[in-house]
Amino acid sequence: MKIGIDIGGSHIGIGLLNDENQIIKKIEKDITYDEQTKKNLINYIEKIIDELIQENDVNFIGIVTPGILKNGMALNLVNLGIEKLDFNNLISKYSNIVVKLKNDSKSAGLAEKQYGALKEYNDAVFLCLGTGIGSAVFLNNKLLINNRNTGFELGHMIINKDGIKCNCGKRGCFETYCSIKRFKERIRDVLDMGNCSPQELLEIIQKEKNNEKVKQIIDEYIENMIVGLSNIIDIFNPEAICLGGSFVFFRDIFYEKLVVEMNNRKYVFDKNNIPKILLAELKNDAGIIGAVL
Ligand SMILES: [Zn+2]
Repeated sequence: MKIGIDIGGSHIGIGLLNDENQIIKKIEKDITYDEQTKKNLINYIEKIIDELIQENDVNFIGIVTPGILKNGMALNLVNLGIEKLDFNNLISKYSNIVVKLKNDSKSAGLAEKQYGALKEYNDAVFLCLGTGIGSAVFLNNKLLINNRNTGFELGHMIINKDGIKCNCGKRGCFETYCSIKRFKERIRDVLDMGNCSPQELLEIIQKEKNNEKVKQIIDEYIENMIVGLSNIIDIFNPEAICLGGSFVFFRDIFYEKLVVEMNNRKYVFDKNNIPKILLAELKNDAGIIGAVL
């Protein structure tokens, strides 16, 4: 058995998987990263691992997290407001089990490539649109990874050089315009709403779809997506781009229009080969499955 752990911007998913990488048990928790949560995060994970290994024969633990992975630590988790998560104690505690730290979006992309929307494609890009925008790039069927084990931060590609300040310190990054977090903030702002569940927000947007301000936010979101996707296409020219994360939850608002506009405008260099724009299929499970691949 394996354990896959997905540390996300607003939720943690922990799964027990069999040797076919099927999830047979899942524990999920929505979180906000206040100081207390940050302090207790690794303890919480350990507690669940303890419970799972007591009842099951576990030989692998994969932990996916944002940030830069180095020496058993995840550094610079800008969208979680965390400078450092140190997993070294956890790794030594389970010294008889292989424990691996992995990049969150690259792992979710691997899961979509192996089991989800990207199965059929050799050259593909996966974008995880949620709190930020993470990414994974596949060329000739291989996930691109460099020696430094960083890079491919497509969410931090600048699409407006004097634009909104990003958590990474730059201005105008793709994710400051097209993360779902940013989209939700803008909608809540114009409708003067407080916090609400994604389901409530989706229902309100659908009810307000003729509201000019809401329409403008949706149109601007799609415009910015076209700029970001066009840059990605001109660099990698993939056969398919898969959009995952909470974008999938809001698909009815964006997806159809985005696909039509991408194909009509052909805002790319190679106009005869517009990639397929696909929706991720594994939803929240992609991180957990990707953690054990
Ligand atoms: Zn950035």
